[in-house]
Amino acid sequence: MSLKKYVGIDFGGTSIKGGIVDENGTLIVKNSVLTEVDKGQVQMIDNIVTLIEKLLEESSLKMDDIASVGMGIPGVVDSKLGQVVLACNLRWEKVNVATELEKIIGKKVFVSNDANVAALGEVKFGAGGGRENAVMLTLGTGVGSGIIANGKLLEGHKGAGAELGHAVMVMNGEECTCGRRGCIEAYVSASALIRDTKRAMNANPDSKLWQGVNSIGDVDAKLSFDYCEVDETAKTLVDNYIKYLGDALASVGNIFRPEVIILGGGVSYQENRLTDPLQEYIDNTVFAGKLLDQIIVTTAKLKNDAGIYGAAALCMLG
Ligand SMILES: [Zn+2]
Repeated sequence: MSLKKYVGIDFGGTSIKGGIVDENGTLIVKNSVLTEVDKGQVQMIDNIVTLIEKLLEESSLKMDDIASVGMGIPGVVDSKLGQVVLACNLRWEKVNVATELEKIIGKKVFVSNDANVAALGEVKFGAGGGRENAVMLTLGTGVGSGIIANGKLLEGHKGAGAELGHAVMVMNGEECTCGRRGCIEAYVSASALIRDTKRAMNANPDSKLWQGVNSIGDVDAKLSFDYCEVDETAKTLVDNYIKYLGDALASVGNIFRPEVIILGGGVSYQENRLTDPLQEYIDNTVFAGKLLDQIIVTTAKLKNDAGIYGAAALCMLG
């Protein structure tokens, strides 16, 4: 018997990426089309259909060979209703995208929030090694998160939960994009690290960090890591960043007791420079850390394809 095949769609504000993935997690084909937000909802759904047709053509498969279609969407997504409650980037509000798409392609369509879907992909087919309890944090402009508990996505009411980045870590702390102060995101996002690097450089005109940029505007989230072995200011920045992230992860560990915590996004490219000290920190701080199995801290493996794999995995969960 041939393996079941699924279409996984990663719906972004600029492009729609998609692939056909079989039940063993083999990505058979992938492609992308432009989202065309300006052309409105009907055209965007049409573009999804065009992408699915391309994928079928390139893999010499037919719609009948596909078991179902999964899709990750940036916004608040009610997966039970198949409805996008709100997606600011797409300018969508209460769009029954699953039903609309099902009418056109005649296949069951599963939808969820894109961060949740990417986490599911990493857990099932990437760094998570298929474990049943896992949390993924994406350290980018903001902090995205996805929680897999007992093999299922934990999304909260109408898919609006699992926003670990907006748990407060420091009372009256740094301003967060959500309007509160002191959120995890305001300390461990790439943007937070860039903010702190700029501040530290301005306070330390002799720091070697200045050698890495033409001007303060060029500072990125990599700079402090590049100089942390040769510059005291950079070392302090990295140490503090890891301490904040370690505290955030220890709390995540205490709440969900995942088997693995996966870090994604730009900062995660630091690999062992990030995960080695974090692992030590978690082992020593998480509740009953030495008594139970270690919570493994690792980095994402699927990179840009996590959303496609995850959307296919969403179909497999049913
Ligand atoms: Zn916040």
